[in-house]
Amino acid sequence: MGKSKVLIIGGTGYLGKRLVKASLAHGHQTYILHRPEVGVDIEKIELLISFKMQGAHLVHGSFSNYNSLVEAVKLVDVVICAISGVHIRSHSILLQLKLVQAIKEAGNVKRFLPSEFGADPARMQNATEPGKVTFDDKMVVRKAIEEAGIPFTYVSANCFAGYFIGGLCQFGKILPSRDSVVIHGNGNIKAIYVTEDDIATYTIKTIDDPRTVNKTLYLRPPKNILSQRQVVGIWEKLIGKELQKVTLSKEDFLASMKDLDYAQQVGLSHYHDVCYEGCLTNFEIGDEGDEASQLYPEVNYTTVEDFLKRYV
Ligand code: NDP
Repeated sequence: MGKSKVLIIGGTGYLGKRLVKASLAHGHQTYILHRPEVGVDIEKIELLISFKMQGAHLVHGSFSNYNSLVEAVKLVDVVICAISGVHIRSHSILLQLKLVQAIKEAGNVKRFLPSEFGADPARMQNATEPGKVTFDDKMVVRKAIEEAGIPFTYVSANCFAGYFIGGLCQFGKILPSRDSVVIHGNGNIKAIYVTEDDIATYTIKTIDDPRTVNKTLYLRPPKNILSQRQVVGIWEKLIGKELQKVTLSKEDFLASMKDLDYAQQVGLSHYHDVCYEGCLTNFEIGDEGDEASQLYPEVNYTTVEDFLKRYV
């Protein structure tokens, strides 16, 4: 069996561009939706052209032109959507309902991977408001996929390293501090960190793997399941300096949300669930899921320590 042809939607996005690179690197015929709405955004156009020069096919299509979505998905075997879902940037998760409809109508797609790539939304029914909206919307999309009978894989990627490790797990920081750090509660709750490139690699690895059809793929690289104190400890060792630690209680963290705008509140509530509630590590993977580093041991994933070396 040859490698699947892949359509990536959101291919110029933060994660999407890495999915395109990984798909090309793994030898898949790679198609990228080129939306007219991109207009004269020169950065996106340059990126699209560079992907085309590396062998990708650009497919014209738009979420405001349903038939164009149907025609686009007819070209491929696998559709991966990496549409935006971070409120502080942009949030378009429910637009995928149109895509689900298009995939159903086209009838040829062997696997659909919707834009998830975070905490498993099926396990976030008790998520903190207002951040729960992210998981609720992703569940709406899942329901539509499953009702349409479309084969799927959901990728639960846990924490993007760039956001979480870069900021030593502090919301609103993406560079590690060198003087002091805010510690969430006792700082011992474990979370899971995966670099964006590794997320893309595992995602592409799974698209032709029959073991993960209609399952959730959890990304839990064992060396990257760490508490905030452990992450800070690795950073301190790298810079040869101990940071001043300021402890922030759960109550004070939640209280700090109330003066923020909605998008920031959404982001902060996610950090709350990860850092205080341990929502990424407080469950075992059941029969509906598989763990990526076990399925694909050949992937030499980036450890938190190696990732942090970039910032020294
Ligand atoms: P981006 O904000 O980078 O956006 C991705 C793409 O979405 C854009 O490039 C664009 O595609 C497309 N898009 C945005 N708005 C629209 C619209 N109105 N109509 C059509 N397309 C649109 O997304 P991210 O890479 O940050 O997020 C991807 C996924 O990863 C989301 O599900 C998000 O929740 C998740 N995530 C998880 C994190 C974690 O720590 N676990 C952190 C960050 C994200 P185009 O290329 O066509 O212009």
